[in-house]
Amino acid sequence: MSKLMKAAYLPGNSTVVLKEVEIPEPGFGQVLIKTKASTICGSDIRAIYHEHLGKGPEGYQNKIAGHEPAGQIVKCGPGMRRFKEGDRVILYHISGCGLCVDCRKGYMISCTSPIRAAYGWQRDGGMAPYILADEKDCVPLPDELTYTDGAQIACGFGTVYEGLEKIGISGNDAVLVVGLGPCRACHSYACQGNGGSKADRCRCCQGTLSDCP
Ligand SMILES: [Zn+2]
Ligand SMILES: [Zn+2]
Repeated sequence: MSKLMKAAYLPGNSTVVLKEVEIPEPGFGQVLIKTKASTICGSDIRAIYHEHLGKGPEGYQNKIAGHEPAGQIVKCGPGMRRFKEGDRVILYHISGCGLCVDCRKGYMISCTSPIRAAYGWQRDGGMAPYILADEKDCVPLPDELTYTDGAQIACGFGTVYEGLEKIGISGNDAVLVVGLGPCRACHSYACQGNGGSKADRCRCCQGTLSDCP
């Protein structure tokens, strides 16, 4: 394994900079993941690609970009509790403290600990050949899903799924999904999967309902 890798950073001004950095070594409770797929989120474009508008949890701290990766574990640090080399994983994009009430409920995104860090924002993310991750942030990727599927699940589909869980879509519902992007597609699929009888896709999100094809 080469000691160096090229990683993408987003310095602002719609620019991507590739830098050579060392391939990290996993410490206790950490894994090294070989990146197989890494998608770009609307949040990356909005808050850090054009200019650094993000504050607090969206504050970009000049880390390797990319919070939607999937890959294969190639090296494990000591103290593994669940995963091993060769496992296919996606990365939950927020590394929470793991101790607060929100983290224990699985809402690491709501963690307010100073050590909370989002991959690709406050700690190195997936736009590189390898990712250093905490084992607790890994989610197993089933064999029936590709790495590309996994990368799109990591943030976008998970966000959609949680939203739909909150409103409880069922076979009693007809659903209009508005928008153009991947999250719109995920909404349509997830609504249909939950039994939503008409998960209609509205392609002209700026038009009125009657304008829609
Ligand atoms: Zn995202
Ligand atoms: Zn926490």
